[in-house]
Amino acid sequence: MLFENSIVGPIHSRRLGSSLGVNLLPLKHKYCSYDCIYCECGWNRESENQEMVYATPDELKGLLQKRLEQLKAEGAKVDSFTFAGNGEPTLYPHFPEMVDVVREMRDKYYPEAATTLLTNATQLKRKEIFDAVMKLDNPVLKLDAGTEHMRQLINKNNEMGCSWDELLNNLIAFGNRGIIQTLLFDGYSDGQRVSNIIDSEFTPYLGYLKRIRPRYVMLYALDRATPEKDLRKLSVEELERYAQIIRKEGIEVKVYG
Ligand code: SF4
Repeated sequence: MLFENSIVGPIHSRRLGSSLGVNLLPLKHKYCSYDCIYCECGWNRESENQEMVYATPDELKGLLQKRLEQLKAEGAKVDSFTFAGNGEPTLYPHFPEMVDVVREMRDKYYPEAATTLLTNATQLKRKEIFDAVMKLDNPVLKLDAGTEHMRQLINKNNEMGCSWDELLNNLIAFGNRGIIQTLLFDGYSDGQRVSNIIDSEFTPYLGYLKRIRPRYVMLYALDRATPEKDLRKLSVEELERYAQIIRKEGIEVKVYG
């Protein structure tokens, strides 16, 4: 499912409440440094050879302002201004500028709302992105595996992404200013077991969480149709079992089934 607009919602999000989406990426296709087997936007190959057409920061600011005027007039609630959309938001060429635009709009229209970014964290390797993400209230950073081998199977890091060491070092540098998001599941892809709940993944994953010491961890389950079909959605009870293991290390966990 691709977003067809740059400003989306607000929609009710199980994790963020009333969330106004800011999609910085092209409207007709996906653009990402990962190609997750569960991605709701489909496979990257379905978006190959598409022309990269981005809205400018001025255009996005205009659209956002117009939508916010409408929402204010309707008395609508907004809990979060959320960078999300058709791929990895930090790949937008003017991402740092848009962070400033969104913070300005939040302060003007909904000063109580949070600014949130859902990111795969690969672009934290670039200082200007790291610094821009630092300005947001809720940087939600993806970590789905305990080993590089499983990250490749689950997330399929590509040439725009980053090395496993870069990823972990940047998550550790973010520390408790970041929120770690992990989609837990079990399944098969191309005949291979792909799972982040097996001991050989969950144990090193837990070890990294202990080094990162994030503000909290979001554990969530599959929600919508996935490009890889042979994946099993975990129940809330299963998610809670893994959450308890993490909590025993003094790390807060929120579960979204
Ligand atoms: S990081 Fe997000 S947008 Fe990119 S492939 Fe994974 S789920 Fe899709």
